[in-house]
Amino acid sequence: MSLTQLDKPVQFLKGVGPRRAEAFQRMGILCARDLLYHVPRRYDDASTITPLARVEVGMDLTAVGKVKSKGIVPTRSGLRIFQAVLQDETGILTCAWPGQPWLDRTLRVGDRILVTGPVKFFHGRQIQPREHTVLQRAPAAGPDQATSGTHTSISATPTTTPTIFVTYPASEDLPQWIFRRVISLNLEWLLRHVGDEDHLTPATRRALGLRDLADALSTLHRPPSVDRVDAAKRRLAYDELFYLQLLQARVRYHATRERPGIAFQRTNELIRALHDSLPFTLTGAQVSVLREIYADMASPHRMNRMLQGDVGCGKTLVALFAMLLAVEGGYQAALMAPTEILAEQHAARIREFLAGMPCGVEILTGSATGRRREDARARVAGGEARVVIGTHALIQEGVEFDALGLVVVDEQHRFGVHQRLALAERDPAPDVLVMSATPIPRSLAMALHGDLDISMIDELPTGRRPVVTRLAGPDKREKVFREVARRLDRGEQAYVVYPVIEESEKAELRAAETEYERLRGDEFAGREVALLHGRMPADEKDRIMRAFLAGGIQVLVATTVIEVGIDVEGATVMVIENAERFGLSQLHQLRGRVGRGDRGGLCVVIPGGAGEGGGGSAARERLDVFARTNDGFEIAAADLRIRGQGDFFGAEQHGHGTGLRFADILVHGDLVGPARERARGIVDADPELAREENALVRLVLERRYGERLKLFGVG
Ligand code: ADP
Ligand code: MG
Repeated sequence: MSLTQLDKPVQFLKGVGPRRAEAFQRMGILCARDLLYHVPRRYDDASTITPLARVEVGMDLTAVGKVKSKGIVPTRSGLRIFQAVLQDETGILTCAWPGQPWLDRTLRVGDRILVTGPVKFFHGRQIQPREHTVLQRAPAAGPDQATSGTHTSISATPTTTPTIFVTYPASEDLPQWIFRRVISLNLEWLLRHVGDEDHLTPATRRALGLRDLADALSTLHRPPSVDRVDAAKRRLAYDELFYLQLLQARVRYHATRERPGIAFQRTNELIRALHDSLPFTLTGAQVSVLREIYADMASPHRMNRMLQGDVGCGKTLVALFAMLLAVEGGYQAALMAPTEILAEQHAARIREFLAGMPCGVEILTGSATGRRREDARARVAGGEARVVIGTHALIQEGVEFDALGLVVVDEQHRFGVHQRLALAERDPAPDVLVMSATPIPRSLAMALHGDLDISMIDELPTGRRPVVTRLAGPDKREKVFREVARRLDRGEQAYVVYPVIEESEKAELRAAETEYERLRGDEFAGREVALLHGRMPADEKDRIMRAFLAGGIQVLVATTVIEVGIDVEGATVMVIENAERFGLSQLHQLRGRVGRGDRGGLCVVIPGGAGEGGGGSAARERLDVFARTNDGFEIAAADLRIRGQGDFFGAEQHGHGTGLRFADILVHGDLVGPARERARGIVDADPELAREENALVRLVLERRYGERLKLFGVG
């Protein structure tokens, strides 16, 4: 099987000489296939194009016409305006581009152009295009021959559907009309060959409601009608999701299937004891994710699972049950936290839960030294310690375990993909459970973490009092702080959060350092106030966090360093200043810090006022959503809607991007599951994709992800 036809460099295509080929290359279009997949970014038809006779002042519209005449109009102010008169079957319209006289050199009389913009009144109707594209080029000859010249060019490069105008992503040296021309000249040939690259059988296509590849691409370049475009894009979206899943399925195979994992035996001795000692019952969501985790751990495959759920939904308890299953089966379990103080808090809680049970708990952090550290290490190596809690020092410093069977990673986003993969290298390979308190929609989670299985806790324990969230205008600031002071009088503690540490001249933002000084001398005079930010030395941060935890500090003025924080039961109120500066998920993480006690938390967000950069409408929307709901999944869905998926993929893949051009999780989310199932099915049966029937997907995978395959070490 070879795909050589579409791998031909672009300069072998009709209408592409060496110079044009270079320009294509600069746009990332190297081979014939790249050109075929360079699909239009917009489509206009009668429903979006206004006939010139119907253009009215005040409209914002798109129009198409042929340039009848043009010229530069000087004004008294010295501004030079390029003007062109457009004509269609219905009438004429003046287009004006103030301050862009150079367009006189690029637009020709006879060019057929598409313009989009507002219509104003200047000696008559006049559109001032925001955007314009040359759909069809008049020949270079003088204006006299323009009309007849254009006619020949139309018949030489026929457009199948003259009423639909497609606009390609173009560049300065590769304008629209070149794309249209080169595609026209080569489309039939390209489509003939791409048919051979379709990896979906008609049966699978029907099951998923997808078009065949050649048909989809043909529709995108020459839509018989604009409403067919979405279905065609859906096919390309599926392909992208499928190949991404295929890549991730191979990562998963290496991590979980290549070497035998542990099939944990359950005796129920410890699990029962923990169940019986709980003063509450597990939520339905906890029970169902535990069922998934137990089944995964009991299987001979290695577990590589992500546990998602809002702060306080009971993930850590679920993880503890999983650790007990490992211990019952004769293994040790480790819990890795991003900070030392968090590790200590986990250790203290877990010791409480396991009090009196035959299960040694040990903590290993960087700060323990000398004899104590040696002893702790010896208990881990000797097997006395069954549950080991620590920071990433657990993994990095080559700590010896007697029989490590399960690794739990808390706040997984604090650790990189590479650290996760590093865990996999340990021999024998322990099961892995990573926890995330930043829940995201399942389809997005599956697309981002195709190598992991996903469990979700989407329910909080009953009786939990939700954090009350209020939006307060900057003019209410004093009142807000008076309310905070009243809570302090009752023995409660508060966080005040700022977007930046120091004031800067560029942005008028309230800064933690300045406000700390102010609050200490004013609103909170005479109280214990402390400052915490990311630039402070680690031991200083640690000291302050401990003092806050112990109740010695009443007000903690902080930046987002507290986002991944410990639970301080006395902390019940949080004020977030310049709240428009924070992302939605970030706000929600912050709010999670005051939901832990049983007194009911309060979170007040104060956006910056006029002159303080109150933020645009997206910021407004974020804050409204934030105040309206406490549900992390809802927050995440809104975040995805407002920000788009780019940010999520960007952060996760460390800037390499996933190359999702067609797939939009919001639109095509339903395709992720089927794509993943199919990809895993193929890889589980044929991990190296060596079989004849998989030759095609292997080739396409290499084409798409050649570099990435190396990056993931699965080339
Ligand atoms: P997470 O790790 O998801 O933030 P935790 O496991 O730390 O949540 O649980 C938060 C608090 O709720 C803990 O004090 C825990 O003991 C308690 N908890 C866990 N599950 C339940 C439940 N089903 N009912 C009541 N309280 C629970
Ligand atoms: Mg937690």
